[in-house]
Amino acid sequence: MIVMKFGGTSVGSAERMEEVVQLVLATLEKSGPAVVVLSAMSGVTNLLIAGAEQALVRKLDDAYTVVEAIRSKHAVAIDKLFDGDEGTSNALKADIDAQLEDLIVLYRGVGYLGELSKRSLDAISGMGELLSSRIVAALARKRGLAACWLDARELLVTDDNFGKAAPLWEKLVLPTRLQMNRRLQEGECVFTQGFIGSTTSGIATTLGRGGSDYSAAIFGVALDAEEIQIWTDVDGMMSADPRVVPEAKLLPEVSFQEASELAYFGAKVLHPMTIRPAVEKQIPVRILNTMNPSCGGTLIKAEVQSDDLIRAVAAKKRITAVYLSSANMLMSHGYLAKVFEIFDRYKIAVDLISTSEVSIALTIDTDERLDELQEELAKHAEVQIFKDVAIVSVVGRQFRVQSGIAGRVFRALSEINIMMISGGASDINLSFVVGGTDADKAVKQLHAEFFAAAPV
Ligand code: ADP
Ligand code: ASP
Ligand code: MG
Repeated sequence: MIVMKFGGTSVGSAERMEEVVQLVLATLEKSGPAVVVLSAMSGVTNLLIAGAEQALVRKLDDAYTVVEAIRSKHAVAIDKLFDGDEGTSNALKADIDAQLEDLIVLYRGVGYLGELSKRSLDAISGMGELLSSRIVAALARKRGLAACWLDARELLVTDDNFGKAAPLWEKLVLPTRLQMNRRLQEGECVFTQGFIGSTTSGIATTLGRGGSDYSAAIFGVALDAEEIQIWTDVDGMMSADPRVVPEAKLLPEVSFQEASELAYFGAKVLHPMTIRPAVEKQIPVRILNTMNPSCGGTLIKAEVQSDDLIRAVAAKKRITAVYLSSANMLMSHGYLAKVFEIFDRYKIAVDLISTSEVSIALTIDTDERLDELQEELAKHAEVQIFKDVAIVSVVGRQFRVQSGIAGRVFRALSEINIMMISGGASDINLSFVVGGTDADKAVKQLHAEFFAAAPV
């Protein structure tokens, strides 16, 4: 059994949806049963969130304009796909209208209360996948597939960390197996949504932006899939973001560890949590291009043979850097514990750390509650906080024993102000912090340094 996940661009129009169904048909023929996990049509999650923000400032008319934009985007696709089949077209439009009625109620609630909690935002932002998946499932049926549509919120049980919910494995594996395996055994192909789940009491949650990849991995692990396929809009994992570095090259094979580092440090092609469940069950993950399906893509697996010193460069933007400095740190013990207890209390994960005699520099992936955090930290140290910086990472191999890599990295970046350096903790990653506006330039220069053809 294979899990196939299609991202936003892959289901972004009637034509793309048609291609998705053809790819599913081809896979069923070649490799047997499949569970298909779908994202919202491209741009729809952003629209849903934008509408909520309008509702929050009581611009309900603008929020309703968003609702109409979403309705029309889906109606255009339905009209093209089900031309001449009024029954299906009307049924789908009625489903979409019902869903959008709920959305209007939610927007109105946000407007009246002047409050947009993470919980409300999850109920709102997760609606896009419910809309797109119904259309694709209906199209699959029209193309002769025994397709069933399952609501992921009834299967993917999560905790209540709204906006970034985590799966509750002990609650979700059994119902997922029961529901999905039964359908698969009956010869049906299961269509469901990425990104969304619900708490044990049935409140809607999301796994965080880009979380459909993670959903695919969760379903794949729950069902013991042979392979998890992430179908997207690029050929696979590349040596850099091809939007920033058009000459970036495809990496045909990547190790679980390399993929985790790259995803965590900004390679958006894969949600950073996707790899962890797959590693535990050693399920290979393949990244493939919906628009170029004959390309082999990237296979992510346990071990990979490669002689490349540097595999890829990535950047993670909109990061916050925190600098702490205090004479109390000198020769004392327990100081770091005190500081990290504060981050723990605010449930903030620390990414990079670098220390000197009396100072600590670190990065966090949030810009929320920074005033409160600063106030708490100020009880222990002088604090400086810089928002909107970027982490740039070079991922390669054997950094601890190779000489000259750091030299080449910093020579390549000689014109860029480096605000912090973190290396050595991982044998395959060297990361540093630059200003947000320098991130793309840093990635380009590093890529040119390590990937440009050697001069003859
Ligand atoms: P989807 O909607 O299919 O989930 P995403 O937009 O989330 O697609 O991810 C695909 C995008 O990831 C690509 O269009 C590309 O710009 C970006 N990306 C960033 N880093 C990389 C990388 N190293 N390799 C490939 N793509 C990358
Ligand atoms: N639609 C969601 C997002 O845009 C989830 C996803 O596509 O992975 O973040
Ligand atoms: Mg994505």
